[in-house]
Amino acid sequence: MSETIVSLPYYAPTGGECALFELAFRNRLPLLLKGPTGCGKTRFVAHMAARLGRPLYTVACHDDLTAADLTGRWLLRGGDTVWSDGPLTRAVREGAICYLDEVVEARRDVTVVLHPLTDDRRILPLERTGEVLHAPPGFMLVVSYNPGYQSVLKSLKPSTRQRFLALEFGFPPPEAEAAIVATESGLPRERCVPLVRLAQALRELKGQDLEEGVSTRLLVYAASLIAAGMQPALAIRAAMIEPLTDEPDVRQALLRVVDITL
Ligand code: ADP
Repeated sequence: MSETIVSLPYYAPTGGECALFELAFRNRLPLLLKGPTGCGKTRFVAHMAARLGRPLYTVACHDDLTAADLTGRWLLRGGDTVWSDGPLTRAVREGAICYLDEVVEARRDVTVVLHPLTDDRRILPLERTGEVLHAPPGFMLVVSYNPGYQSVLKSLKPSTRQRFLALEFGFPPPEAEAAIVATESGLPRERCVPLVRLAQALRELKGQDLEEGVSTRLLVYAASLIAAGMQPALAIRAAMIEPLTDEPDVRQALLRVVDITL
């Protein structure tokens, strides 16, 4: 029988997050990841799922996502009505990791299905089929949210958040971020260092002129364009300036930061 070798998604740890994830998994506890977009949360979960040998179901939550999208629904197929599991149900049945990205975006009824799964019952009642699924030890629920742009309407209720262990994610320290950007883009590390310095300067404007600072993801994009031969000034503009704002004044201010920093 041939063995499938699944490669481990590259993830550079910045603290004790891998140990915490593993302990949460072994103790059957759900985990909440907090942090800005593009700082490595999804990659971290993919890495840990592979390390723990569990399949991973990732759902990007949005404001139309309902509980039925996660649990499943009856579908008409060739005159028959057949039940189709949603990703959460599949994860529970298979003992997989289920990652709900930006969970606060989802409809309120999603919380109702998560509650019995996130306490010691670890059950998923499927009202529509009459089943009650008991999560096996391999199942783990991981959710993320970005406290930066949550409004009062869209934040996690204490009764929900207090069911999770929580881990705060930030951008990696500069040395580590330069190494990550170099590995991901193929641009030599010494050429990534000034890009990281620029990202830090731009991040300082967060809250004044900008809603969100430059993410590690955007830094990787800029470095990848430069590695592919694009002029650095053009790559920086396309990957690190234009995605941040539509305001001409703010764009000019950001470009000034580029001039001063590089
Ligand atoms: P998030 O889920 O927080 O929005 P991602 O996990 O998608 O962000 O990260 C965006 C990109 O940044 C990844 O595709 C990867 O290239 C890079 N990245 C960020 N942090 C790390 C890290 N610690 N190790 C490896 N890659 C990282």
